[in-house]
Amino acid sequence: MDAIPMVDVAMVTGSTSWGIAVPEDVDLPGVRVIARDLTFETPYGLSQEWKLIELDGSLTFDGKTRNALVVWSHGNRVDEIDHSGQRRAFWVLREAGVRKVLCCATQGSLNRAIQAGDFVIVADVLELTQTPYSLLPGRQRFDASGKQLVCPSCAATVARVAGAQWPEGRRVFGIESQLVAAHAWGPRLSSPAEVLAYRTLGADIINHSLAPEATLSREIGACFVNVGYVTAPFQGYFAPADVNVVRGDVRDDLVDLATRVAIVALAEFDLDAPCHCAGLRSAQPENRWSRR
Ligand SMILES: [Zn+2]
Repeated sequence: MDAIPMVDVAMVTGSTSWGIAVPEDVDLPGVRVIARDLTFETPYGLSQEWKLIELDGSLTFDGKTRNALVVWSHGNRVDEIDHSGQRRAFWVLREAGVRKVLCCATQGSLNRAIQAGDFVIVADVLELTQTPYSLLPGRQRFDASGKQLVCPSCAATVARVAGAQWPEGRRVFGIESQLVAAHAWGPRLSSPAEVLAYRTLGADIINHSLAPEATLSREIGACFVNVGYVTAPFQGYFAPADVNVVRGDVRDDLVDLATRVAIVALAEFDLDAPCHCAGLRSAQPENRWSRR
């Protein structure tokens, strides 16, 4: 079993980068894999498919070499559907002392104006049931706020990096657009009825992973931001059955670039930005659990 390294930043990969090795398949000088195929033991079982990477000082915000943990596809197991993988992954991130988490997932649009290939950094999440896989140590020890689930400082970094590289004709929506992500566990894609329901509730995009990771980031006291782009346009959900909802051509065009944006943003995060995220998980008085 591998020892969990201490790092400040981490990347949770997902459909944004499916089909390529991260970071090996992205041509980005200054990025080095220190170790791959790492497996960590957690109270919830083994967490697998981790890498430890090094980001050279030529890339980083403070000019210092920065190590980062990278986990494959939300902490999923390779051969089964297991929605609790994120809890194992974020338990590892908490043990590693991670302060900023960047999570990658493509998106379905619930809004005609947000089109295939648009890059969407969300501002809030809509997860009505919340995750059953909480990491808070007991019910009484912490309050976890639902405010500012997306870190404004990290979002500004991702928007700046994406804005400099995203293809002309495709848009980058930053946190100021105040777009909302709905959550469905998947893996089935949303039905037309579900799309209309989530849209009516106020969501602008939907996917299978973003909201639980925002919640788990809050629970470990870390900043959270998403990296993702729309592969399933709104109109696609209502097209004839033989028309794929997910635009594979868009995904193929953008998978390398989006992964590059994620890695560069990871390097460019300001670790000491005064964003208040960590304080939005607040310890409660001891008598809440000790006096009974
Ligand atoms: Zn923050």
